[in-house]
Amino acid sequence: MTTALPRTTDLAASVSAHREEALDLLSGLVRLPTVSGHEDLASDAFTGWFRERGWAVEHQVLADTVVGGTERGRAEPRMDERANITGWLGSPSGKPIVTINAHYDVVPVMYEKDWTDPPFGGVRRDGAVFGRGSVDNKAGCVAALYALQALADAGVELAFDLAVELIAGEETTGLGTIASLEARPDRLATVVMEPTTGAVVPANSGVLFFTVEVAGRDVHTSQPWRGEDALAKLVSLYLAVNELGARRAETHRHPLMAHVPTSVPLVVGVLNGGGWRAAVPAHASMSGRIGVLPGESLQEVRDALTETLRAAAASDPWLVEHPPVLRWDNDGSIGWELPLESALVTSFTAAQQASGLPARVEGLTAGCDAGVLRGAGIPAVVFGPGDLSRAHSVDEYVLEDEVIEASAVLAAALLALSDAVARGEAA
Ligand SMILES: [Zn+2]
Repeated sequence: MTTALPRTTDLAASVSAHREEALDLLSGLVRLPTVSGHEDLASDAFTGWFRERGWAVEHQVLADTVVGGTERGRAEPRMDERANITGWLGSPSGKPIVTINAHYDVVPVMYEKDWTDPPFGGVRRDGAVFGRGSVDNKAGCVAALYALQALADAGVELAFDLAVELIAGEETTGLGTIASLEARPDRLATVVMEPTTGAVVPANSGVLFFTVEVAGRDVHTSQPWRGEDALAKLVSLYLAVNELGARRAETHRHPLMAHVPTSVPLVVGVLNGGGWRAAVPAHASMSGRIGVLPGESLQEVRDALTETLRAAAASDPWLVEHPPVLRWDNDGSIGWELPLESALVTSFTAAQQASGLPARVEGLTAGCDAGVLRGAGIPAVVFGPGDLSRAHSVDEYVLEDEVIEASAVLAAALLALSDAVARGEAA
């Protein structure tokens, strides 16, 4: 058996040798506007990539899945046309399975006239690939494909069968990853590709979405003392809710999120009130999100917001009589984490170091499909090229070097994981 370091060099050399090919593929994928619902536009590109190499590739049509028949599935369009595409390194041989999960749907283009280049132009300039879906998440898809290529070029035999699961419908209901678990419920581990600037992420905060409604009494604005201003009352609740967010930022800290101001972001994204400028507002509402710390139950978070609203309303006799109505807009997602000593985590830090990079392990305040996998008991981490803050934005881009570097680290991490599995360690 050769040592890890020369093998890592081989893997990096393969990724470098395929640099232009990989970046051309990324640019071409960005030119396919796979806005959620239209993932089929990239079907041939992905399928062809695996077939060219003689590797097995499978389509899982979303309409044919169990989750496709649920409420989540009924909320999604064109289910007969859309599929998860699973491509293998070679073909499955009956070994345990490790997968790389990478969604390939993208969010719609907003503010098109503010873009420097056409959003679906896939323009390459200044060492970057620009366009909707470049960083989120086609760079992750391409990094995964060329990690497989590097492992094939190096001729290593892995201790597991390795597949890339190209996932549909991540940006909408997230049913794609749920469906992928129907196809492959048993797996040793899954790496979820999302932009993490190359850090390995073994912890995510969860999130709950909420709406608060306040009723007042509308009267002519020339006699406001005879009404009850729902908007003014709501603003006092809004301030109290934001104070809760500031308090939780101090009290609910995760050690892997020490580099950011809060592990549990609380933001009111919508504030609404009134209906007519000459009437005291009779209705007002706000909607927002509250972060959930890994290990914290959803009920604890719900209780904290409920109590904050109750306390804030207690000083207003009208609100005591007409309490604000709190509604939870979704089931929420819990935070999750994987122990730092897990082979999946240490494989990445070893790969980073063998690639001459600092070992970077960070938590993420956003949820992603890794939470679904962790909920199913599967060891999972998040990893990928580029900066999440560039996702869903005007002039979205990913640096070409980031894609190549992430691909090489991913290949080396999978090799290290294979060594650990061969030694009998759990992922
Ligand atoms: Zn994404």
